[in-house]
Amino acid sequence: MTHDEIAQHADKIDAYEALVQFLYRAPIGLVQAGLDGTVDMLNPMSSSLLMPLARDGSLDNLFTVLQDVAPQLRELAASFAEPSGVVCEGLRLPLGDAATPGGPQVLSLSVLKLDGTRLMATVTDATAEMLREQERLARRLKSQARTDALTRMPNREALLEQLQQMLARPAGETSSGFALLFLNCDRFRQINDAHGQAVGDRLLVQVGERIRAALRPPSDRIDLAAGSGQLAARTGADEFAVVLDGMRRREDAERVAARLLDALAKPHQLPGQDITCRLSMGLVWSDDAGGLAGEMLRDASIAMVEAKRAGGARCVVFETAMRERAARRADIEADLRLALADDQLFVVYQPVVGFAPAGTVDHAAGVEALVRWRHPVRGIVPPIDFIQVAEESGLIGALGDFVLRRSCRDFAAWQRELGPGAPRLIAVNLSRAQLGQADLPATVAAVLREVGMQPQQLQLEVTESLAAQDQQVQERLHELKALGIRLALDDFGTGYSSLSSLHLLPVDTVKIDRSFVCQADTSNHHRVLIEATVKVAQSLGMNTVAEGIETEAQARVVRELHCAKGQGYLFSRPLPSGDLLDWLAATAAPSSAAAA
Ligand code: C2E
Ligand code: CA
Ligand code: CA
Repeated sequence: MTHDEIAQHADKIDAYEALVQFLYRAPIGLVQAGLDGTVDMLNPMSSSLLMPLARDGSLDNLFTVLQDVAPQLRELAASFAEPSGVVCEGLRLPLGDAATPGGPQVLSLSVLKLDGTRLMATVTDATAEMLREQERLARRLKSQARTDALTRMPNREALLEQLQQMLARPAGETSSGFALLFLNCDRFRQINDAHGQAVGDRLLVQVGERIRAALRPPSDRIDLAAGSGQLAARTGADEFAVVLDGMRRREDAERVAARLLDALAKPHQLPGQDITCRLSMGLVWSDDAGGLAGEMLRDASIAMVEAKRAGGARCVVFETAMRERAARRADIEADLRLALADDQLFVVYQPVVGFAPAGTVDHAAGVEALVRWRHPVRGIVPPIDFIQVAEESGLIGALGDFVLRRSCRDFAAWQRELGPGAPRLIAVNLSRAQLGQADLPATVAAVLREVGMQPQQLQLEVTESLAAQDQQVQERLHELKALGIRLALDDFGTGYSSLSSLHLLPVDTVKIDRSFVCQADTSNHHRVLIEATVKVAQSLGMNTVAEGIETEAQARVVRELHCAKGQGYLFSRPLPSGDLLDWLAATAAPSSAAAA
């Protein structure tokens, strides 16, 4: 060997040494083993990583060491036919109970077949990687948990979080305020029932899109620091919310609300039909909000309910006095639930008399059923105090059912008891929500069958504002009419419909509102209106009833104007069934037949 050759040889040995040193100290576990797993060589990193798995403290065989965490490995290697190649790569081995506290939790293993006799395995600590992945997953889950699946809008949680951050901004940091709008679709349940849930879902998606489109972009971001931006969210089934940041005055927010309502009033094009879905809205201005996001949202929903009570399709600005009203309504609702289950409701009957020829009065013409509530603490609660609550809470179905059944049953009992002397007609009031129920005609038919009544003995009363309202109500009225029952237009003169549209409604009877009747004898104007109503009704073959007659003078006037029937305290207040029978018996006596 020459000097040079010796030097070269020494260099090679150095390089080899360096390589061995490198492999020896590498921060990655390296193992060389036979095809049966017998370990030939391993660096310190691999023994430290694998040792927790070595049950008897021996690292002689790779497969044995990994038996618990990768039982498939021995088989995998044995069946690897190729002379060389990747047997497995990046296999995750959770150490589970074997992990030492503070040590690796998960290993990553790759096995390479070097040639016909040798395997090379690399082992690394994958704990940090796993934690990063878990974090990513958690973040994704969190963002999913904050997104509404149907509309892809932020959901209630996301909205509340954003609101809370805005409420927590130090006062005076921005000179402007912000507003929360809470929107709820009017009559969404009916739309869903009538067109099916798939159409309902599409409608909600479109409503969400329209809300976003009506806002100035961005509609999905609030810049907390800059105090600007807007966020539209879906907070519940048919509920949406919008946060408007950076508003100088409340009036500015109200303008945006009006713009939103405008945009939402247009019909939605859905497969097969256009559907109009109006929304009611409550607005809370930041100055009127407390410190809690949940409370601000609740206040906005209280204002929204007020918007619905006022007829819907409008925006109402929250005022603190509304909280008390809402609480009272909530009390009534809770109590009413009990009342229905606890027999606290009952029905009274007010006679409706016929104006017979020659000034006589037909006392058995009919009665109107009026519901009453005997509240254990409040005493007798009048219907105006609870009918609307019943409508809003969905209790009206049960309440209406109860009144219908009870009054028809009582009516049938009077027929059995009095025969021809019994009232010939029973009038039952229907509320808005009842007319929305698709099964109402079927229910009415079933009740008539149950008690053995003729359909023409039942009159259902709807208020004129209701009857004029929409297509669906009209259809329901026609279905009821088809059963053969009578329909009356209640409180005529107080709503929107006029004499000229009377012919459009499938009603038999017009009930002239008390507000006209009570001035019949004192105001010429009201007298003329009553006269005109009677004439138009007669020309359409409809009957008229004057409501709320309290004096002889009023009775005389409506009679002169050819009203067919009358009802009011002059004849009788509403009476419990037993008292009604007494009243009928007393008025049937010949001496009183010519009264009034
Ligand atoms: P309505 O259908 O117009 O009923 C007539 C109302 O006028 C009744 O009030 C009756 O007691 C009252 N009234 C009758 N004659 C006179 C009178 O000479 N003077 C005065 N000042 N009032 C008179 P009530 O029982 O308080 O019912 C109020 C409203 O509540 C009813 O108005 C009706 O819209 C609704 N309602 C009552 N019962 C029911 C029910 O079972 N279901 C539904 N949906 N609504 C009902
Ligand atoms: Ca009525
Ligand atoms: Ca009425």
